[in-house]
Amino acid sequence: MPAFCPLCASDDRTETHEADDGTPYAVCFHPSHGQDGYLWEPTTSRTETPDRSSGSGGLGAELEIWDKLLTCFESSEDFISYGEVEDRFIARYPSEATLLLHRYGHRWRDPEHRSGQYSMSAYLALRLRDLEKDGLLELEWGPAKGPWAYNEIISQWRLPRRSEP
Ligand SMILES: [Zn+2]
Repeated sequence: MPAFCPLCASDDRTETHEADDGTPYAVCFHPSHGQDGYLWEPTTSRTETPDRSSGSGGLGAELEIWDKLLTCFESSEDFISYGEVEDRFIARYPSEATLLLHRYGHRWRDPEHRSGQYSMSAYLALRLRDLEKDGLLELEWGPAKGPWAYNEIISQWRLPRRSEP
């Protein structure tokens, strides 16, 4: 089952897998995506799950993940890195964060539970991309820092600018 990387528009370096809970995902290991590759959910698109009630959308609805992620942003702020979003999410929603950590693992937050490609971070980043598709967040790519530096580049997020001069 070939999966086309939405960034490379190619399937040369892509693989398809399932997360521990059965969520299908694809990952592209083109060097430009950093060590962990670029991960997406090929079967989860807005058109297929408009109400986000199936697949991993069921967990998201249960956790009200999209609304909670949006509370991690301030309208006056410029782009913040994915790592900062994750720190804020964990600080504000420790029980949800613990659930995701136990379900999906994390590269360095939970060394006992070595995650596959589909980690807690991959899950949360995918939900941020849902928000970007809906126009509720803006995405840029920038250099990864600190404990995320192994990624080389990492997503950067902010609330949309409603009134550009
Ligand atoms: Zn790619």
